[in-house]
Amino acid sequence: MALGTGWVVDWVRASAEVVKEHRTELVRLDREIGDGDHGENLDRGFSAVVAKLDGIEADATPGAVLKLVATTLISTVGGASGPLLGTAYLKGAGAAGAATELDADALVAVLTAARDGVVLRGKAESGDKTMVDAWTPAVDAAAAARDAGGSEAEVLAAAADAAEAGAAATEPWVARKGRASYLGERAIGHRDPGAQSSSLILRAAADTAAAQTAAATEG
Ligand code: ADP
Ligand code: MG
Repeated sequence: MALGTGWVVDWVRASAEVVKEHRTELVRLDREIGDGDHGENLDRGFSAVVAKLDGIEADATPGAVLKLVATTLISTVGGASGPLLGTAYLKGAGAAGAATELDADALVAVLTAARDGVVLRGKAESGDKTMVDAWTPAVDAAAAARDAGGSEAEVLAAAADAAEAGAAATEPWVARKGRASYLGERAIGHRDPGAQSSSLILRAAADTAAAQTAAATEG
């Protein structure tokens, strides 16, 4: 089932909830290899986004909502992750274009553009121990699920699974970008906070898509 603006709004609300729920964990991860503000940065940003959701036009497209998320995160999150995630949503909005619904192809295009935006902005490569290590496996898995004929919810579930595995895989690595890169070998044994938060956000995308699909089947 193609996903419309209602799903994007649900996804954003669910992202805000999951970020709030995992705030302490994200702070702890960032305290271990950064400056300890990641959970607060994201919680502040997504709370600001939620506050703006009620004001969106009734006929807003998915792309318009993604753009609102982008501009709000850029202006409220601060830190490295604000501009990076903001660029992800901005590029994702561009890929969504004026479409009123996102099918599996469009979702892959949105996720790919989002990842490309993070890379363009932050210049991190896979293996640098950043959020890219959640996004790139997610994009690859989403494309594979789409190629295998997966539904929109299945494409997003594949992305979320891969992002979780990607975030976990950062634990034994040395960081080559961001604050954690100043730590050298002391970053070993700690999961990258940005990869973890991105995997939470992508899981929220999959869960809300599954819920919408289930509701449509029942109704
Ligand atoms: P700050 O590092 O400014 O305190 P946050 O704590 O909010 O910002 O975010 C830290 C996260 O940002 C890191 O865990 C990492 O995933 C991500 N990050 C930092 N630099 C880059 C980069 N150049 N490219 C991609 N992601 C990055
Ligand atoms: Mg930080």
